[in-house]
Amino acid sequence: MALGIPEMRPGTVGAPRTGGDASGLLDQFGRTATDMRLSLTDKCNLRCSYCMPEAGLEWLKKDKLLTADEIVRLVGLGVDRLGVRELRLTGGEPLVRADLVEIIAALRRNHPKLPISLTTNGVGLAKRAQALADAGLTRLNVSMDTLRHDAFLQLTRRPFLDQVLAGIEAAAAAGLTPLKINAVLLRGINDAHAAELLQWSLDRGYELRFIEQMPLDADHGWTREGMITAAEIRDLLAADFDLSADPRARDGAPAERFEVRRHGSAELLGTVGIIASVTEPFCADCRRTRITAEGKVMSCLFSRTEVDLLALLRAGGSAADDDAVAARWQDAMWAKPRAHGMGHPGLGDADFVQPDRSMSAIGG
Ligand code: SAM
Ligand code: SF4
Repeated sequence: MALGIPEMRPGTVGAPRTGGDASGLLDQFGRTATDMRLSLTDKCNLRCSYCMPEAGLEWLKKDKLLTADEIVRLVGLGVDRLGVRELRLTGGEPLVRADLVEIIAALRRNHPKLPISLTTNGVGLAKRAQALADAGLTRLNVSMDTLRHDAFLQLTRRPFLDQVLAGIEAAAAAGLTPLKINAVLLRGINDAHAAELLQWSLDRGYELRFIEQMPLDADHGWTREGMITAAEIRDLLAADFDLSADPRARDGAPAERFEVRRHGSAELLGTVGIIASVTEPFCADCRRTRITAEGKVMSCLFSRTEVDLLALLRAGGSAADDDAVAARWQDAMWAKPRAHGMGHPGLGDADFVQPDRSMSAIGG
């Protein structure tokens, strides 16, 4: 393994494969996906500029979305047959799905020990946090890029910061911890707020993670020059804090974690994570398999190839039996690309083509 790029398994690359064996969600570069990201909806009540357009994105029709039963079946296949060990529910905004609590309760009944987390923008969370905890949700990631109302409005195009703050408080009170806060920094809008957001998170015992802005926005406005890199994020934080590598093993986590201390102090205040998907990619250690809200397997966030499981689930008869669905999912993952084509020395941006889907339609 070199430069974050997985090495090929001799004799396997390009080899066709028919799934259905006991190897789980293995790919031709030797990685096995155990972390399932499942999108519950493409809809959202915010319009973050790095994700959705201001207007004009059509929602999927209800009959094109995975139903609660289909979700429960796919997670069952993943966990019971294909080696999935943790589940993250995402979207779009998963809280806009009316049957969210029932879905989580059903998943928890079937999989008492499975870690189930949810990524949400926090709008409307205050009302639902306790019900989510009671249904069996393990923990939450809440996305909040700034504590300033004007910057929040500019970033999300909606004036809902107070709702998000109330949601975070309710989630912590409901025991949905350790609570993680996700933040994307945009130059000139909230990059100057990075240290303040970290201090706020440390004061409350939340784990803040900065995510590098990826070229997954519906407006195709991302530029490499415009994005705030992980190195810049470390510099922004270094003005107020000392960061040192977290000695705990990264263990396939997308975030590189740092211990945080005040300059000149030995007291550990907490940790901060940086997810450097663009400038310091971690494809070699990727353990994720993604299913979109309409039941397509995406082996990578940046994938331009999708494999339809929903059509198969609805085909009926032996075509739709567990063996057939599991085998198609395995085949989709076997074809996972070696790397996403950005930021890898030797591959370069020239190999990268932005996917047609925006982040909201993939499930981040
Ligand atoms: N709506 C929920 C939320 O915002 O948390 C869940 C879905 S959202 C797509 C999941 C995560 O993706 C959020 O933390 C969001 O900040 C992040 N995200 C969206 N677009 C992104 C982009 N272009 N680059 C990096 N992160 C992005
Ligand atoms: Fe919605 Fe999440 Fe995308 Fe923001 S990042 S527009 S909250 S799906």
